[in-house]
Amino acid sequence: MSDFSDRIGNVKAAMADRNVDALCVSVGSDLPYLTGYRAMPLERVTMLVIPSNGRPVLVVPGLEAPRVDVVDGAFDVYGWAESDDPIAYIDQLLHGATSVAMGDETWSRFVLQLQERNTARDFTPASELMAALRIRKSPLEIEALRNAAHTVDAVVDEMAQVRFSGRTERDVSREVIDRTIAGGHETMDFWIVASGPNGASPHHEPGDRVIESGDAVVVDFGGYQNGYCSDTTRMFVVDRPPHGFDDAFEVLQAAQAAAVEAVRPGVTAASIDAVARDLIVEAGYGELFIHRLGHGIGMDTHEHPYLVEGNDLVIEPGMVFSIEPGIYVPDDWGMRIEDIIAVTDDGVERLNRSDRSYRVVS
Ligand code: ZN
Ligand code: ZN
Ligand code: ZN
Repeated sequence: MSDFSDRIGNVKAAMADRNVDALCVSVGSDLPYLTGYRAMPLERVTMLVIPSNGRPVLVVPGLEAPRVDVVDGAFDVYGWAESDDPIAYIDQLLHGATSVAMGDETWSRFVLQLQERNTARDFTPASELMAALRIRKSPLEIEALRNAAHTVDAVVDEMAQVRFSGRTERDVSREVIDRTIAGGHETMDFWIVASGPNGASPHHEPGDRVIESGDAVVVDFGGYQNGYCSDTTRMFVVDRPPHGFDDAFEVLQAAQAAAVEAVRPGVTAASIDAVARDLIVEAGYGELFIHRLGHGIGMDTHEHPYLVEGNDLVIEPGMVFSIEPGIYVPDDWGMRIEDIIAVTDDGVERLNRSDRSYRVVS
């Protein structure tokens, strides 16, 4: 991905609009979004300082500097030596800046040190600037998300061919991880395999439970491919569905499909949540749908926009998010169907395309 000068130009325009004198970005995804460089979450400070007028400088530990690739001369690099005081240097770069937008994922230690050096400085969260830029993806970013989705779709199809019964959740999740990495992901973010009653906990951590005949199994996994995230959920049923499962699954599928169809520019995030929720409530499962409908996805698995009651954000072309309703019966079973979709000029493109019916496995 290139275009870093453009992105820095866009963020500078947003800073001017909001009277922000400088933007500081440390670990997290804002930094690679603006520079192509992802900092390791070290105790040594890494910080991109973008003054409203002036050259951006990426302050990095000297030993990390060789990993920085300045793609189109978009910024300068300052590698600090082990005996330097990098906070003093950043403080100098911020000279004259009274309003500073600080990256949301910056260690508080560095923020506190900068505050101590100049108590007149006013800090605001950088997400107020960055979210508005990152929320609409470029065609290249959507292509990366499409490719990541394609990989996990293939893994779902592969998992439909393997045996689940007699294996632990951990063992099955290990196979999901291995197949996803083999399919082209660099790293994984999460790997939920939740069988039987464990499925009722949406973020269950796969453990020692041995999967058995008659279990419903929630498989929800994702990771990073070329810096962009995947996230999909499909249901597996071992031999036969548990009691009450089929009726609920029909409702869930209909709710998920209706919500995807409701997505288009101009509707609100909350209204999409309501489409799925209303159908689930009408069918009598309302109190068993215990989370928001979806979340944005990009360089982070969870980012803006959030599809949740009360969010009046208006959907625009280029936004990419999950549609993932679920129904959870405590102590019994759980179910969720999750696709990532991209908003187009007049509707929606599904990035995940694997079969949404539950897969019967042995
Ligand atoms: Zn989740
Ligand atoms: Zn998921
Ligand atoms: Zn998700």
